Amino acid sequence: MQFFDVIVIGAGAAGSSTALALSKRGQRVLLLEQFRVPHERGSSHGHSRIFRFAYDDPDYARLAMRSLSAWRQLELETQESVLHLFGGLDLGFAGNPSFERTAQTMSEVGAVYERLNSSQLKARYPQWNLADNAEALFSPEAGIVMPSRSVELMVAQARKLGATLLEDCVVQEIDLENTAVKTNQGDFAASQIVVAAGAWLPKLVPSLKAKLEVTLESVMYFAPKDVSVFTPARFPIFIDHNSLAYGFPAQGLPGVKLGLHQSGSRTDVETRGFEVPQQAISRAKTWLETHLPEDWRLIQARTCLYTNTPSHDFILDTHLNSSRVLLVSPCSGHGFKFAAYFGEMVADKLLGIPNEFDLPRFKLSNALQKGSAKLLSREILEQATA
Ligand SMILES: Cc1cc2nc3c(=O)[nH]c(=O)nc-3n(C[C@H](O)[C@H](O)[C@H](O)COP(=O)(O)OP(=O)(O)OC[C@H]3O[C@@H](n4cnc5c(N)ncnc54)[C@H](O)[C@@H]3O)c2cc1C
Repeated sequence: MQFFDVIVIGAGAAGSSTALALSKRGQRVLLLEQFRVPHERGSSHGHSRIFRFAYDDPDYARLAMRSLSAWRQLELETQESVLHLFGGLDLGFAGNPSFERTAQTMSEVGAVYERLNSSQLKARYPQWNLADNAEALFSPEAGIVMPSRSVELMVAQARKLGATLLEDCVVQEIDLENTAVKTNQGDFAASQIVVAAGAWLPKLVPSLKAKLEVTLESVMYFAPKDVSVFTPARFPIFIDHNSLAYGFPAQGLPGVKLGLHQSGSRTDVETRGFEVPQQAISRAKTWLETHLPEDWRLIQARTCLYTNTPSHDFILDTHLNSSRVLLVSPCSGHGFKFAAYFGEMVADKLLGIPNEFDLPRFKLSNALQKGSAKLLSREILEQATA
């Protein structure tokens, strides 16, 4: 049986970043991926993900700030740009709890931002049709990071530094006692294992099945009549605290990308579909027509998987039955922006260097607590509008 320092299961955002960080630290890494790299069946594919400091929670705001330098480091090492900062808007109104907490958090962590009242907002971004009491937080250090390309680059960089990648390699079982894995390409052992399996985590760790919810989420691209007013220079990324809609300017594809956070339905990784439900398309189009009056035409629709914890916090913890196996799931629909820094946290944890990995909120006992949602989410929105 071949032996490695660390086996990393899954070459998505978390696994590819971990394999790179460990290889940089001279570890002999085996990276196992059940599909090809990149693929479109998990959570880390597509053209764009929102990058922002603007969280309603200082832990995540600070993590995002750490992640910025990690992304720039990746760009330096690969001589390729994957993070584009052109500004972001948090839309809300005075008194909206998550909106106010976000403003407070930005001040607390020392992030640059401006609070715009309704007339300032309309003057600067006339595309929007918002209520008279609408307000916004503008953050210059926001924009997009490119998921599929970033994963490809992190895997390529890890391989350059000596990591072994096996594609089409399905881990069928984790042998906790011997810190080894059974796969369709043979068995492998290591000193430590990182399970970064995304929506497949409950399959490899059945005790989590009842606690994690996998949902099928949709993103849609709509072309306006006049795309010039929706380019990054004139139309920042946005998150709407009133509806959980989030969106991106026209970049790459000639249309605005829209998603409705946590609006997907529960699914199973084996039987999930790839069609975006018609209802999701109609809801998105109606939302756009109301808030960004234009003649919108659908040009593309994609599905993707969220792995949701009840708290919407990430899982960074050791396996209940083996301290040599780490469970890493940065999802609940908001993990990609941290990907470049994530691997650093996991690698340092494996090498015994304390870091944010140890934050209590990421432990299974906390992240899986029902009703413990604190971050901007459907629960928080319902509480605010109840
Ligand atoms: C629609 C949508 C919009 C999002 N928007 C944002 C955003 O704007 N900003 C943001 O920061 N985040 C966003 N996210 C969240 C972000 O994309 C995820 O948090 C992140 O991609 C999760 O990465 P992961 O590595 O945990 O999972 P994945 O990328 O799914 O990686 C898991 C990998 O493990 C492999 N695997 C699983 N089981 C096995 C096995 N048994 N053997 C071998 N390989 C295995 C899988 O094939 C997969 O490649 C969004 C997510 C979605 C779905």
